[in-house]
Amino acid sequence: SKNSSVPQATDNNGSMQNHPSEAIINLDHGDPTMYESYWKKLGQKHNLTIPGFQSLSYFSNIKNLCWFLEPKLEQEIKMLHNIVGNAIIKDHHIIVGTGSSQLIMAALFALSEPLNQPNPINVVSPAPYYSSYPEMTDLLRSGLFKWGGDANTYDHKDEPYIEMVTSPNNPDGVIRKPVVITNGAKGMLVHDLVYYWPQYTAITSPADHDIMLFTVSKCTGHAGSRIGWALVRDENVAKKMVKFIEVNTIGVSKEAQLRAANILETISVSCQKIKSRDLENFFEYSHNLLVERWKKLREAIKKNELFCVAKFPLQYCNFSGDFTESYPAFAWMKCKDGVDCEKLLKEHKILSRSGRRFGSDPEYVRVSMLSRDEEIDVFLKRLPTILDCK
Ligand code: PMP
Repeated sequence: SKNSSVPQATDNNGSMQNHPSEAIINLDHGDPTMYESYWKKLGQKHNLTIPGFQSLSYFSNIKNLCWFLEPKLEQEIKMLHNIVGNAIIKDHHIIVGTGSSQLIMAALFALSEPLNQPNPINVVSPAPYYSSYPEMTDLLRSGLFKWGGDANTYDHKDEPYIEMVTSPNNPDGVIRKPVVITNGAKGMLVHDLVYYWPQYTAITSPADHDIMLFTVSKCTGHAGSRIGWALVRDENVAKKMVKFIEVNTIGVSKEAQLRAANILETISVSCQKIKSRDLENFFEYSHNLLVERWKKLREAIKKNELFCVAKFPLQYCNFSGDFTESYPAFAWMKCKDGVDCEKLLKEHKILSRSGRRFGSDPEYVRVSMLSRDEEIDVFLKRLPTILDCK
């Protein structure tokens, strides 16, 4: 982390180092430590032991297009999507990746490589867009693709391009559809649906797109396992994505896949009334936590006129059977005009990410809502004390 040299509010185990009133609160990353409390309650239940003789081979299932996908993980991914109803999996190949991050790169490769274009094709997304897209796209200065910037102002000139459709969006939590008017078949879409889970937003219908990305990082909070998956309709695109991962990392850690499968199984069971017994419904638990945090955030900023956050519409959620607003993983806060919001928060020992990083203005910041309770509490107490310094 860029901020690793500054003392942090909590150590890796989540305990406060300094007096809360002086602690530096790091809400820059979307580190999903909020979920620890759920998993701690389970204690030693649902642990996974992997004996020394298991998982030595590179291969998981040579009959599968994605030959390094563990069958147990495949089964649990299907089960969870069926229970939650957030994506259609039939007609799609499942590809596992080292986080959905690796799958974004794999998708860019798979879509652009077969086109044999003389120049790199543009990858675009409407501002504010996930700040890693430009970094990932341009890191290796590929001859296949390059970052093309804000999709709202992008002119495709009848050339092929890729639009990243992030829904709910990081940083602002908005439900999105593609924005570039294609007028032809040359636009290709990657749907980044890593936040399309019932704790964050209403599940209004099962998503059914050509390429959809998910990750345990934002679903269960196990970002450290580095397991993501792609649902890919076209076989040739799926094969190319597998090829990318083959050359990049020769597959994906089996231990991580087995642990992710175990975790997904646990949350699926937690959603089923007959099976769950004393297991609390994972999505209900995390939804309630986020509802509470967002309520407190709105109260905290109501008291001063410096910050504002957008309202989200009420929508019917097929999973919960109830109407709900969105409670995104990040708060996208706007300061008064002319105020550099990241700088202002930093003066009050709150680390956030500037709107500039998302192709937006310095009046905006993104603040993680997925940190541990202790950090969020200090943040929410400190926020109303930041008076208009202008
Ligand atoms: N897409 C989006 C929109 C994200 O916010 C993130 C994580 N911040 C990722 C992809 C990557 O997540 P991971 O590699 O942990 O699966």
